[in-house]
Amino acid sequence: MRLTVIGTGYLGAVHAACMADIGHDVLGVDVDVEKITALAEGRPPFYEPGFDEVLTRALASGRLRFGTSLREAAVHGEVHFICVGTPQRAGSHAADLRYVDAVVDGLVPHLPASCLVVGKSTVPVGTTARLTARIAGLVPAGVRADVAWNPEFLREGFAVEDTLRPDRIVVGTVGRESDETLRRLYAPMLEAGVPYISTDPSTAELVKVAANSFLATKISFINAMAEVCDAAGADVVTLADALGHDTRIGRRFLNAGLGFGGGCLPKDIRAFTARAQELGVGPAVAFLAQVDEINERQRTRTVELARQLAGGDLTERRVTVLGATFKPNSDDVRDSPALAVAAALHREGADIRVHDPEGTENARRTHPELRCEADLLTACQGAELVLHLTEWGQYRELDPVKLALVVRKPVLVDARNALPHDEWRAAGWTVKALGRPAPA
Ligand code: NAD
Repeated sequence: MRLTVIGTGYLGAVHAACMADIGHDVLGVDVDVEKITALAEGRPPFYEPGFDEVLTRALASGRLRFGTSLREAAVHGEVHFICVGTPQRAGSHAADLRYVDAVVDGLVPHLPASCLVVGKSTVPVGTTARLTARIAGLVPAGVRADVAWNPEFLREGFAVEDTLRPDRIVVGTVGRESDETLRRLYAPMLEAGVPYISTDPSTAELVKVAANSFLATKISFINAMAEVCDAAGADVVTLADALGHDTRIGRRFLNAGLGFGGGCLPKDIRAFTARAQELGVGPAVAFLAQVDEINERQRTRTVELARQLAGGDLTERRVTVLGATFKPNSDDVRDSPALAVAAALHREGADIRVHDPEGTENARRTHPELRCEADLLTACQGAELVLHLTEWGQYRELDPVKLALVVRKPVLVDARNALPHDEWRAAGWTVKALGRPAPA
């Protein structure tokens, strides 16, 4: 099928390449010329494991092209995927839908034939209905453009795998024709047994924000337990392990620590709260404000722990921050808890060195005040305090004996509860973590 993917960021670029990989003829479109040039040359504009290979393969197949013209997109696509950003609106918790609207306004007047417009971006419930009305006022005479919503659940760090082998495909359509088009489009996945949930657009839109709300709640739940553990002298990791054995609860997303960040969870739960208020059901999801608050508090708690370990004053103290991205295996630093902590410590006068395997370029752009080091040992040289803030696999492999020789004081805050504390302690380190008692 002839598809366009409009918005080629973390979601759209991977979607475009994977759709070409399963046999579709895809045109990826973005307003960012630099990004489009890189993609067209087979250079991923961001770090995502496995994306390099699928992009190269899709370009070589001749089924993937990139451009910047919505007019060209209008002519190319039988199905147009909207994958643009839906950030938090400035000064409000609501989603900013201006990019989604701009795509519709730029695309629809140029449609030469009937087609399907499919939203993948995360949007407030009711967006499909709103866009349907908007499109009706823009579409050329004799042309029909139906709208469907097909929310995306990919995880950065696993984006290719999640796109090619998703846990489920959720599709919200009005009318059988749109549903049949999408079943045809995703046929290889359906044949492989991927569950396909066909519903109305409002339910589909809600599935995405409900899923993110649930995940955020699970993380904040265990972080709230970590706070209680700290007060009671109990151990949140053992608590999480014990809870996780209950199959009704499960162990995943129960890792206590610095909390969630990134370009999705925080803004999605806020936008959901704002939308629920508009719908007159604010109290139904009022708990999400607490989920957000608990999450933000872990950043403050980590800064407090660092200050305490520095003897109450961080001025000119050499602090090394391990991790800049919001999660491992990504270069994404949007709303990164690690950078939020690093920036707060910097504001308190600490002399910060940040290390990250993939995120320092983005970190330098968003936080020019922070000094980033490409080499891990250089970053740790002379440190009085090391903070482990993003759980990259390579930090788990660190040799605490060697690192102890490089730092000035062997003091570690493991804000992700992911390092082998016993080994670090045996190597002479003082180790602190949220929700974990100091050993007797
Ligand atoms: P992103 O910022 O990486 O990408 C958005 C892209 O849209 C950018 O490249 C931008 O230049 C482009 N764009 C903006 N306006 C445009 C226009 N008028 N025409 C063409 N292109 C335009 O964002 P992302 O992380 O890819 O997220 C996109 C959407 O997908 C968001 O709604 C997000 O919540 C949702 N989502 C993201 C993920 C994820 O893991 N990143 C997962 C699921 C859902």
